[in-house]
Amino acid sequence: MTPPDRPLLQVSELVREYTLPREHVFRAPGKIRALDGVSLSVSAGRSIAIVGESGSGKSTLARLVMALDTPTAGTVHLLGRNLHTLPPAELRHARRDFQMVFQDPYGSLDPRQSVERIVTEPLQAQGTTSRAAQREQAAAVLSQVGLRTSDLGKYPHEFSGGQRQRIAIARALITRPRLIVADEPVSALDVSVQAQVLNLMQDLQQDFGITYLLISHDLAVVNHLCDEVVVLYQGRIVERGSPAELFSHAQHPYTRSLVAAVPQVQPGRARARRAAAADLNAQADAKPMV
Ligand code: ADP
Ligand code: MG
Repeated sequence: MTPPDRPLLQVSELVREYTLPREHVFRAPGKIRALDGVSLSVSAGRSIAIVGESGSGKSTLARLVMALDTPTAGTVHLLGRNLHTLPPAELRHARRDFQMVFQDPYGSLDPRQSVERIVTEPLQAQGTTSRAAQREQAAAVLSQVGLRTSDLGKYPHEFSGGQRQRIAIARALITRPRLIVADEPVSALDVSVQAQVLNLMQDLQQDFGITYLLISHDLAVVNHLCDEVVVLYQGRIVERGSPAELFSHAQHPYTRSLVAAVPQVQPGRARARRAAAADLNAQADAKPMV
């Protein structure tokens, strides 16, 4: 277990600059600061949402936390380890503790690979378990996300969008991670399907003590899963608080526009979270299972 004084995830003064294509041969290429000094910390079991308009740096932050990209400055510690200075073999081993779910369940699953192959991919990358043990674990996670063992031999095109996102979640779950980074995990899905996938994510949070770093532009989605919301604007954190605090007194114009976009939720009410969940559930009940 993580001691209470050590956060699961600690992001300190993170900066990521990108060099823009050179516009003039005699001029130095321009730079853009996609992230400009972002700090946050997340305790085990407390999920955090990153919201912000397009281009505010959300995916850049997700990639850095996943150690898929290197910061210009600053650090990311997971369970006390600095992910960007770990030797490659140790980073590979550490990857079992943090996994990612992407936005697009169509694009993020290789259409030529079977579900078994897709879901066991993180175990293959770890290279420690036998094929038979991998298959067994894949069958177990498939049932945990509401799919069948018989789905192991199928291919992505045989599933609906919601089911494909369940496959992506199963793949993330198979190493028993502490942290799942989810970049807009339901925004490509129908609203009714969104609720089912969010409910699944919430169940997994409770059953396995998973912490989410959830990227979303939808405060109803955030409300469902997260204890804390961080608002990014042009690579900086401009606002943070609980979902209820943001609903009741958002300061930044972008946050206010997000709150205004959630008409079902009455601002400032403690029951906002439950209301949003109930509303999503009601919408889900009205439609057939995916
Ligand atoms: P978000 O996910 O919030 O939409 P991103 O993190 O994708 O934002 O992008 C933040 C900023 O960094 C944007 O201005 C984007 O154009 C820029 N950016 C992202 N990735 C690259 C890259 N590989 N090269 C150059 N600029 C990039
Ligand atoms: Mg993005």
